[in-house]
Amino acid sequence: MDVLIAGAGPTGLTLAIELQRRGVPYRIVEASAHPFEGSRGKGLQPRTLEVLDDLGVIGEFLAAGADYPVLRVHRPDGTDMELRLDEWHRPTPAVPYPNVWMVPQWRTGELLAGHLAAAGGHIEYGVSVTALRQDDDGVHITLSSGEVVTVRYLVGADGGRSTVRAAVGVGFAGRTYETHTMLIADVRLTGLSRDAWHVWPGTDGRSQRLGLCPLPGTDLWQLTAPLAESVADVVAEVAPEVTLTHIGWTSRFRANMRMAERYRAGNVFLAGDAAHVHSPAGGQGLNTGVQDAYNLGWKLAAGDDALLDTYEAERLPVAAGVLGISTRLHHLQQEDAAEAMRRDDPVLRQLSLNYRGGPLAADHRTRPGSVRAGDRAPDAPCHDSSAFPVRIFDALRGPQWTLLAFDAPAISLGDGFRTVPIVRPGAPAGPDSIVDTHGHAHDAYDVHTPTYVLVRPDNYLGCVTDDPADLDPYLRKLGLTASR
Ligand SMILES: Cc1cc2nc3c(=O)[nH]c(=O)nc-3n(C[C@H](O)[C@H](O)[C@H](O)COP(=O)(O)OP(=O)(O)OC[C@H]3O[C@@H](n4cnc5c(N)ncnc54)[C@H](O)[C@@H]3O)c2cc1C
Repeated sequence: MDVLIAGAGPTGLTLAIELQRRGVPYRIVEASAHPFEGSRGKGLQPRTLEVLDDLGVIGEFLAAGADYPVLRVHRPDGTDMELRLDEWHRPTPAVPYPNVWMVPQWRTGELLAGHLAAAGGHIEYGVSVTALRQDDDGVHITLSSGEVVTVRYLVGADGGRSTVRAAVGVGFAGRTYETHTMLIADVRLTGLSRDAWHVWPGTDGRSQRLGLCPLPGTDLWQLTAPLAESVADVVAEVAPEVTLTHIGWTSRFRANMRMAERYRAGNVFLAGDAAHVHSPAGGQGLNTGVQDAYNLGWKLAAGDDALLDTYEAERLPVAAGVLGISTRLHHLQQEDAAEAMRRDDPVLRQLSLNYRGGPLAADHRTRPGSVRAGDRAPDAPCHDSSAFPVRIFDALRGPQWTLLAFDAPAISLGDGFRTVPIVRPGAPAGPDSIVDTHGHAHDAYDVHTPTYVLVRPDNYLGCVTDDPADLDPYLRKLGLTASR
């Protein structure tokens, strides 16, 4: 067995799909006897939607969710006011999913687990990691069943209270705000229209006494309120026009903002909430966990030690940045600042996150354009050589590296690599070529001379060069010799 994943939350499930589609032998164990039932992290950011597209599951997520509804604020004077968390962004050729998409977390888990099962994966529910030790033979893990399993790598995707993190002695620096508490529950009700996220502020017109957000694809609502009151009491007191007909998953939440000091201890890795916990403000936690798994999966499959070191080098600074933003939003909420409900900082959409200057980013051009090694690979609508519509995301989809050869001779890099020549209309096109009919691909990649763009399996630009001789040394450095 190569890998054991502790935890089948969104992070562990994404990682399992990544390993499954690469044929890596792994197990995924989940302490709980059943899938998670709460709506908790309901905002999927645009970059997460791109990951889901790459995993081949975006259709199910788009069918299951909806755009964020307008916020309808029921003011103490009896009047209503409407505002949006963020303006609606129009899709562009380079960014097909520009808006945050609402899907209750239990549905996200259900869809990921369903996709994993369809691919042949199996989640072991009711089994937890209880202890571990590492030596030259691997990581020896004791499971709650009493079984001891030895693997090459263990990934702790076991949430904020991570047993794995504690077992390897990695510190979790940050703060728990004991007084910043919240009640969150999934309820059914009558008496409210489902076209808005209803919010009742306090008498000062700002602090929130009750929020009720309709959850798409269900007849449920996510209720949020200050902790002191029970679900039934707070609704009866603040919104007597609403009748609760069902109270389901309920959680009492305490704001926690912490980061693991390391993401790797020997052959044990931390990902998702096990590595960083955020304030729910800004909707970043689940999304950052999915991105961790997306970064780690292909590196675990490659199994190169130096490459695996780049997981922490790339992801820890990203989590630190995200934590800073969500913490700022959290404090604005605590201060009841007017801008606390705004979510229009583009960083929240996670599209601008990049690994520029990192260990895997090599840009050999003397005059790089605006899109550089380390950046997210943009999309672009084009045509294939038979004049059928095709997108750059279609070419990138799957577990492989992709070499986009812009106006340059195609080069085969061998197994695990796909080469896609991108040509201007009228230029000679082979069967695998993409014809950049409207110039969207050249514009999106800001490429105007013959250029090779080697896109990593997690769809960030790895090596960008006009000289194909740069590609082999780049791959060799990662322990990934191209086989031609
Ligand atoms: C009120 C609230 C609102 C939120 N809103 C958002 C939002 O809008 N957007 C967003 O991105 N995030 C949001 N989040 C955060 C989001 O819910 C988490 O970041 C996300 O669940 C993290 O996923 P994970 O897989 O890393 O961890 P978890 O979801 O915590 O999953 C960890 C899993 O590991 C299992 N486990 C624990 N110990 C063991 C063990 N020893 N062995 C095996 N399994 C184990 C647990 O049972 C659990 O299923 C919100 C959180 C809260 C509390």
